[in-house]
Amino acid sequence: MSGVSAGAAGNEMAEPSNEGLVAELARLNKILRVLMDRAERGASIQGSDFNIFQTTVMLEEQVRLRTAELEAALRENEKMTSALRDSEARFRGMVSQSLVGITIFESGVVTYANDTFAGIFGVTQADLIGHNPVKLFHPDDQETVIHNIRRRQTGEVASVDYTVRGLRSDGSVVYVEIHGSTMEIDGQRALISMFLDVTARVTAERELALLQEQLKEMTVRDALTGLHNRRYFEERLQYHLARAASHRTAFSLVIADIDHFKAINDTFGHPTGDQVLRDVARLLSTPDFGGEVCRFGGEEFVILLPEADLQRAVACAEACRMAIFSARMQMGGKTRGITASFGVATLTAPSVSGAELVAAADSALYLAKDLGRNRVQAAGGENDMTSSR
Ligand code: GH3
Ligand code: MG
Ligand code: MG
Repeated sequence: MSGVSAGAAGNEMAEPSNEGLVAELARLNKILRVLMDRAERGASIQGSDFNIFQTTVMLEEQVRLRTAELEAALRENEKMTSALRDSEARFRGMVSQSLVGITIFESGVVTYANDTFAGIFGVTQADLIGHNPVKLFHPDDQETVIHNIRRRQTGEVASVDYTVRGLRSDGSVVYVEIHGSTMEIDGQRALISMFLDVTARVTAERELALLQEQLKEMTVRDALTGLHNRRYFEERLQYHLARAASHRTAFSLVIADIDHFKAINDTFGHPTGDQVLRDVARLLSTPDFGGEVCRFGGEEFVILLPEADLQRAVACAEACRMAIFSARMQMGGKTRGITASFGVATLTAPSVSGAELVAAADSALYLAKDLGRNRVQAAGGENDMTSSR
């Protein structure tokens, strides 16, 4: 990581450099040699001169002391250099072996990326260093990445935390959680980013959400017919009533009940009865009246008809009655026909409750049964549309 320590280290050491110390030692030794030579020469020319000898010995002692001092300083300097080297090696080891991908981004390109980062994206260091990293991300997320780089570059924010999709070199998608900050390197703003591969977590979260969605769906679905169940119906009934009241629109309800269904079970068996229920569910769902068909329970079905007045609801019920009446179903090795009766009720005032509307449709249904079955009966006795085979 050349250059990284330059700004941060704040080198205030007044210690001489190794080269300086070695040069001073050499210079002192040279002086000593010159003085020794001079002393020797003086002694041979002028005979023994005690003063020169004494001066020489003194100087020699001074040089010896200074040499010892300088050697100690050299050793200290070397110790510091080696400690510095060790700490840098430790730092490099820590960064390169980190489970987190780390990059430094300077002047529009990646200037450092650890192996973990390269591994997350399935690329090599050569693919990264000196390149813009934006293309490493999913096309739909590149704008987000650019935006978050820009926000740090301009100083709008000091740090960012976000999750985007990366594109591995094999084309697969990897989810990465990015924690980015800024720092000064050689007086320039550099972006330091850490990348966590959260693909497993995101995938698990999605699966869980899907499972929860499926579970929720199961609670509002009828297992036999696949239609929405009574619980769903109750929820939707309240919703439609509130909507009809606020929008001042019509709302109607149809309840359908298969005629003499018990006899089908008794004659052909329960599984045949189940199949008839499935067939009827399909027949009721086929015409698109813009309503919602639910299994109310047993062999009873209900159709919620938003924005339908009584006339339209009766027409819808009549179409359903005819569809069931016309259909042929497999029972006891033969195709046979069945019939159903229908009760229809419409919202006559915004104050009418869901229970009141259901009760009105139910009363109409019972009237249809009493009147001979295979008929559509509207609540209030109007629009009494009857039919028979
Ligand atoms: P009606 O014409 O008066 O409506 O007579 P019905 O026989 O259709 O009505 P009844 O209420 O006497 O019988 C309904 C039968 O539906 C009784 C019950 O065992 C049967 N049933 C309810 N749920 C299921 C189901 O899921 N599968 C099957 N096979 N039968 C069911
Ligand atoms: Mg019934
Ligand atoms: Mg019945």
